[in-house]
Amino acid sequence: MEDKYANICVDISHEKVDRPFQYKVPKALKGKLAPGMQVLIPFGRGNKLIKGYVLSITDVSEYPDELCKEVADVAEGGISAEGRFVALAAWMRANYGSTLIAALKTVLPVKEQVKQALKRDIYLNISGQDLKDRLEEAKKKHHVAKERLLEALSTVETLSYSFALMQLGVSGKTLQAMEKNGIIRMEERTASRNPIKAAGGPEGRIALSLEQQEIVDSFLSDYKNKIRKTYLLYGVTGSGKTEVYMEMIAGVLSEGKEAIVLIPEIALTYQTVLRFYKRFGDRISVIHSRLSKGERFDQFERAKRGEIQIMIGPRSALFTPFSNLGLIIIDEEHEGSYKSDGMPKYHARETAEYIAGENGASLVLGSATPSVTAYYKAQKKEYGFFRLKSRFGGKNLPSVYTVDLREELKKGNRSMFSNLLYEKMEERLKKKEQIMLFLNRRGYAGFITCRSCGYVVKCPHCDISLTEHGKNKLVCHYCGYEAPSYKKCPECGSPYIAGFKVGTEQVEERIRAMFPEARVLRMDKDTTRKKDDYEKILSAFAGREADILIGTQMIVKGHDFPYVTLVGVLAADLSLSAGDYRAAERTFQLLTQAVGRAGRGNTPGEAVIQTYRPEHYAVVYAANQDYESFYKEEIAYRKVCGYPPVLHMLAVLFTSADEQRLWEIIKEAAGMLREAAGAKGWRVIGPADAAVGKINDAYRKMIYIRHEDYKELVAAKDFMENLMEEKKKEYGDLSVYFDFDPMNGY
Ligand code: ADP
Ligand code: ZN
Ligand code: ZN
Repeated sequence: MEDKYANICVDISHEKVDRPFQYKVPKALKGKLAPGMQVLIPFGRGNKLIKGYVLSITDVSEYPDELCKEVADVAEGGISAEGRFVALAAWMRANYGSTLIAALKTVLPVKEQVKQALKRDIYLNISGQDLKDRLEEAKKKHHVAKERLLEALSTVETLSYSFALMQLGVSGKTLQAMEKNGIIRMEERTASRNPIKAAGGPEGRIALSLEQQEIVDSFLSDYKNKIRKTYLLYGVTGSGKTEVYMEMIAGVLSEGKEAIVLIPEIALTYQTVLRFYKRFGDRISVIHSRLSKGERFDQFERAKRGEIQIMIGPRSALFTPFSNLGLIIIDEEHEGSYKSDGMPKYHARETAEYIAGENGASLVLGSATPSVTAYYKAQKKEYGFFRLKSRFGGKNLPSVYTVDLREELKKGNRSMFSNLLYEKMEERLKKKEQIMLFLNRRGYAGFITCRSCGYVVKCPHCDISLTEHGKNKLVCHYCGYEAPSYKKCPECGSPYIAGFKVGTEQVEERIRAMFPEARVLRMDKDTTRKKDDYEKILSAFAGREADILIGTQMIVKGHDFPYVTLVGVLAADLSLSAGDYRAAERTFQLLTQAVGRAGRGNTPGEAVIQTYRPEHYAVVYAANQDYESFYKEEIAYRKVCGYPPVLHMLAVLFTSADEQRLWEIIKEAAGMLREAAGAKGWRVIGPADAAVGKINDAYRKMIYIRHEDYKELVAAKDFMENLMEEKKKEYGDLSVYFDFDPMNGY
């Protein structure tokens, strides 16, 4: 083949140019272009030079030669990301439905200059008693960040300025003051290297338990026999999964391969990272969202050059350009954050399966509450299955009390705190033990429940809660079914039937009124606007600067709090009625995790779950910490209703500012889908309003399509794309988005 032509994807994030353009390769560039390379090309009538990515090189021309323009040059700093990332982007485009350029931007790191100030190393200048005194002083004065810096520096040789700033939350001012006082010393560095350098080299290897060793042996024996597949590792928090991951990684590394470890951003704490550093030292790098694009790019470059063998990070660490990838680990695989909110809406688990397949790597999924999808595949033997039964250190699970809020109302208690929870809080405050209060707000989108009997209004066609629209209308977001609002509960006649509206702020106010002496911290969207607010609140709570921490889902993960002996879940139901098929699964996971926060230290813990539906299986099994029973009920429900993982589901979101026209278009689209559906076996539901019916003046409507074969849904997506291409030309203001096996609702 001669490299006569290059197919190029234009770097303009617009669907109108979402196809490759062919350019001639000029003599000067022959032999110099490769897939993934960034180039400059003349584009449009004015032949303005813009950037593009080379997708492929070919000798087959698609246009008459005289119409074909020439590639102008290789773009400055034009990285030649290997062709496989371009292939990955193409796979994502095909399987998730997005523009090619959006997919490329997701998988290719962007080169940007790293600020010089950040390229500095920090060393400790003091030791012995001096260090001890400084640590003591920082503790006393609640200089949490400073304390963490000193602690970190006493375990490692050096760490980078940016790591101190972003991972430890120390301010630049503090660092300068510490340098001035002679506590630390900073050195400029030119080459990019690790954010931490462990002192002494790898250590921290623990002798595995029999149970752990068997899992590692079984995995490595497969590995050495060239068996590559996906495994699910199921074990409660604290059962030693992380130790198992580390041994698996060590085994794979000894074969000359590399590993990627995905950990949800929220759980990617300094403590976790340090454990890996102690075990693997300089062979590791970490990325997270607080790094700039340039810093992330630097770390990816180091992976490409073979300077590191392990990359730890959130979802995007999946795109680390290792050349010899042998293992991908996804910890807490059930986490919603593994599904991207932006375009393309890829799921890290599926994408990891694809990447592992292409690279001849294995994939290990770990969780204390596996996703129904992963557990289902393990049951069907599509995945290998490992189980860790016991917990380390012999710590007991907390005692759990479930309080029926309907009974509280009958007793005349209309506050958000049951008598039991109130009493237990009082008791803890007296004993100076800590309390976490968890408000499950995720589901709140105006669904209706009866506070006397717990009745929830559901769609007769979908078994999904109806949602309040305005004052007088209830709507199903799957099929569009509508019913008038209720003034009285149809079950028991109670007038207390309404949308549930409680926020963390109201909870805080209420507590201040009940326990004026208590020190309260609140963590929600409002109190965590700035980058390191989240860390600050958690470390203040860990430092016992508050008695009570109130929060949403954010507080159930991450840090360990040994002094927390009581966890209260204020309204467990809220996420049960979220109006999507994953409501019970999400609720079970959240409750199990929330309950698990109590009693991590030496004092036994207790948890109080307040609910209007104490009989709901997600609540009952979470209180018993019984995953298997939960799974059995849940999968039975998914089978009956035909929801994922039994069937795959494609959500198609249409948006436009013109509601009337949007409605006409989507009705027509649904009609044509239904016409074609018979032959394809598509099951079409809708159209209906999205849960959030309007954002920024754009109306949002949905169609759902289900099929057991994912490929058939990809075909449905292609069908819909072709159909809409014309429509979009007709009406500039129309967008169509695809979401496969949706997880986070609309
Ligand atoms: P998980 O990842 O499942 O939450 P970890 O791997 O973090 O569990 O283990 C929980 C705790 O038990 C950690 O402090 C860890 O060091 C300890 N641990 C795990 N395995 C062993 C072992 N084989 N021997 C001693 N301690 C262990
Ligand atoms: Zn009722
Ligand atoms: Zn319905």
